[in-house]
Amino acid sequence: MATDPVVELVTACKALASRGCDTGIGGHVSLRDPGRDEFWINSFDRTLGEVTVNDVVKLDHNGINVLNDRAVSPGWEFHAGIYNQRPDVNAIVHTHGFWITALASLCRPLRMRHNLCTLFYNDQVMSPDDSFDSIGAAIGYASTIIIPWHGAITVGRSIGRAAALHATLEDMAKLDVTLDRSDAPELPEEARLPLRKLIDEVACYLEQTWELMIRQAERHNL
Ligand SMILES: [Zn+2]
Repeated sequence: MATDPVVELVTACKALASRGCDTGIGGHVSLRDPGRDEFWINSFDRTLGEVTVNDVVKLDHNGINVLNDRAVSPGWEFHAGIYNQRPDVNAIVHTHGFWITALASLCRPLRMRHNLCTLFYNDQVMSPDDSFDSIGAAIGYASTIIIPWHGAITVGRSIGRAAALHATLEDMAKLDVTLDRSDAPELPEEARLPLRKLIDEVACYLEQTWELMIRQAERHNL
């Protein structure tokens, strides 16, 4: 049975909150309405952990709210821009998770200091800011955009994949920032791609992580 897209979006918001990405007003999750130039996104006036099905708006690609009169984050612009530029993307997550933001404030990409970091290998870019002019120029076919002094964006073909990638980035950013001043070596270059294939395509780590996040959100009664 197909899941209601609004329910799926709320689940993603709550699941991300349960993984430490709920740092106040400003994070947003969106989901493309296939076949229409519109997408659902959480209202600006609720944190990710607070979002219910009544706190979701629907925007067209000009930023017009076609569902209700709730406030919308000014960041709507990059969601519309990414959907226009990347037909392979059906969901977008942007948060200011603490460790993601700490990494962003180091103004560098994630280093490959853990096998799960390979999920971002050759698939992360830096953007000067979160305007679509900057992101559109930087994103290419990457799945992760790090915005210096701000936060990060992950995209995916499904909302579960974008959310699980984001939660994994928060975990890996914590490890990487903690090790920033150490001599911890990075994974050898030749090991990265095989590890990424194993973790993503054989173990289906992101799909399993999405299922875990749903259970975590339920356990915390979010
Ligand atoms: Zn932001």
